[in-house]
Amino acid sequence: MPHHNRQDGPEVLGSAVVVGASLAGLMSALTLSRIGLQVTMLERSARKVRTGAALPVSDGLLERLTGRRTHGRTAGIPSGGQAWADVHAALGSAVRDDPNISLRSPVRVTDVGQDDGSAWVVTEDGEQVQGDIVVGADGHASVVRRRVVPDAPDATFSGYLIWLGLVDEADIVSRPWHSDLAILYERDYCLNAYYLPGADGSRARGERRLGWGWYDSGRNDLLRSSGAVEGNIVQRTLRAPDVPDATFDELAKEAQEIWPDPWREAIVDCITRRDVIGTPIGEYMPSQLTAGRVCLVGDAAHLPSPMTGSGFSASAEDALALADALADTVDRPDGFAAGLTRYGAVRLDAARSLVRSGQSFNRSFAPRGAAQ
Ligand SMILES: Cc1cc2nc3c(=O)[nH]c(=O)nc-3n(C[C@H](O)[C@H](O)[C@H](O)COP(=O)(O)OP(=O)(O)OC[C@H]3O[C@@H](n4cnc5c(N)ncnc54)[C@H](O)[C@@H]3O)c2cc1C
Repeated sequence: MPHHNRQDGPEVLGSAVVVGASLAGLMSALTLSRIGLQVTMLERSARKVRTGAALPVSDGLLERLTGRRTHGRTAGIPSGGQAWADVHAALGSAVRDDPNISLRSPVRVTDVGQDDGSAWVVTEDGEQVQGDIVVGADGHASVVRRRVVPDAPDATFSGYLIWLGLVDEADIVSRPWHSDLAILYERDYCLNAYYLPGADGSRARGERRLGWGWYDSGRNDLLRSSGAVEGNIVQRTLRAPDVPDATFDELAKEAQEIWPDPWREAIVDCITRRDVIGTPIGEYMPSQLTAGRVCLVGDAAHLPSPMTGSGFSASAEDALALADALADTVDRPDGFAAGLTRYGAVRLDAARSLVRSGQSFNRSFAPRGAAQ
């Protein structure tokens, strides 16, 4: 394999095609670039908002992913609970600063293939994009998973959705909650609500944002009639225009009755502005993470209940483990496939435990699953 010198990093040891440029894809691209791979990312969608979701960011995450103290214009991602969109923006900026990663969007991948010497994806335009490996970071309904695990390609709907919203603390008049996080159960519902830094990163009282996720297992008719869930499989998130006014009215009324302020006020504010999405939740228990030169990371690899609060950190561990495994093997004649096999061996048990840890919540919160 030819090795080329790069201006600002190690020599080029090979190439990777990463399908999906959300969090798991961005993190994998950064770690693979760090060990000397030329990375092409393909992302089908230009839209990137997961309103209200919060993610736990570990100390020095960006530095561990990139292997650098600072990265271009990006000083790092602050640790602690961060808004999904802020984490996505920071990782996206680090990727754009990396000359060895190219991100192409919108490009939808429809198939994946491999032979002894390479792996490739096929786009919906019929283009073939080739590399030494293909990394499926294409989320819960992964196309890449169909080739890695043809016998068990689909995540299954868990029988509930999460309504998500985000509001500036400056717009809320109620007294602040006594801690940064609330996990509340009322009637058949569960509410996860949290303070997040303001858009400028401030954690000062009055300048933060309030995020909330309202777990609801009573909307399966709406999910099915809108096509967000088909059969046992999650197709897409509900956007505000998909949700009838009567449903919003019902949610606002229930929020008034059951949730305490300031979360009640935050939820009603978001509903009034119709700034709410409803994400149907799926589950995928992995049996394998790799096949030859193709592998899975993030939600494509393992889809736990969000109640575990660990999908993002597991995606970061995938990205780090993948690069470590390849760095050790890539110079061998069978290096790429061997590296992916090692990655799978390192991550599979942890990935299975993660999904298992969310199953008791899934089973108790929506006992009849998708049948409801
Ligand atoms: C409501 C909710 C709350 C959550 N809360 C937490 C939490 O508190 N803590 C935590 O750690 N984790 C949480 N998670 C999980 C966390 O967000 C994910 O585990 C993490 O972001 C990794 O996602 P991903 O990048 O693998 O997948 P996704 O975010 O689904 O991204 C997949 C990407 O692939 C693209 N794609 C898909 N198919 C194709 C294709 N055929 N061609 C090209 N591109 C394609 C998609 O457009 C998308 O950009 C939560 C998730 C949800 C839904």
